[in-house]
Amino acid sequence: MRIGIRENGLFHVHTYRCGHAQDVPDEAYVRQAIAMEAPEIWFSDHAPFPEDPFLQRMKYAELDEYLTTLQELKAKYRRQIDVHIGLEIEYFPTYDAQGYYQELKKNPAIEFLLLGQHMAQDPARPGEYSFSWPEEQLDLQEFRALGEAICQGIESGHFAAVAHPDRIFRRQKEWTPDMAAMSEKILRAAERAGLPIEINISSYLSGKLFRPEFWKLAGDRCPILYGLDAHSLLELEEHDRVRRQLIL
Ligand SMILES: [Zn+2]
Ligand SMILES: [Zn+2]
Repeated sequence: MRIGIRENGLFHVHTYRCGHAQDVPDEAYVRQAIAMEAPEIWFSDHAPFPEDPFLQRMKYAELDEYLTTLQELKAKYRRQIDVHIGLEIEYFPTYDAQGYYQELKKNPAIEFLLLGQHMAQDPARPGEYSFSWPEEQLDLQEFRALGEAICQGIESGHFAAVAHPDRIFRRQKEWTPDMAAMSEKILRAAERAGLPIEINISSYLSGKLFRPEFWKLAGDRCPILYGLDAHSLLELEEHDRVRRQLIL
């Protein structure tokens, strides 16, 4: 799975199905992207997992409808814009062992998987996840657990790009040598795999989710792409405007 984003392509767009995005039909994003004269739009809504163990995402039963709806839009607007269909998804070793990522990749409607590590499986208790850790443990260990999961995910070969790698440091105030070491580990893995890493415009605008220290270490060692992480029509437009300013 390789992705090549064209100049002014709109990458990383969510839909209402995740439950924390604007409640508009997918077609509204496509029509607005056309109005913005974008050559392409890349949908990557939060992926479900079988039996729906997590919140903030579509239900597993909604996956087929998500894919079918986007395929219809892809065909309907093919003369005006390229609609690309993917999913943003965490790497969890247990689901990998069960073949879930392979199953998604085998689905001909899914063009790419974007590695978005919002939480990690607890290495000591694989049935549990970092979101249920106490605050103190999160402050100390969240970035390490998420960083290790990102490295494993990169090495699994299932993903086409890494979303917001610097977001793992969201709970850290000061930049430390440990954070630099984890950044190096992720960058080396991405470099070896030749995988693009995402400067996330939503993180950039939030301030605290974006770490310039990480991007200084990254330099041009691996390909960099810009993701809007748009959860509304307004964000599609505004985040793209910021993206254009950043690449100047
Ligand atoms: Zn989201
Ligand atoms: Zn994300």
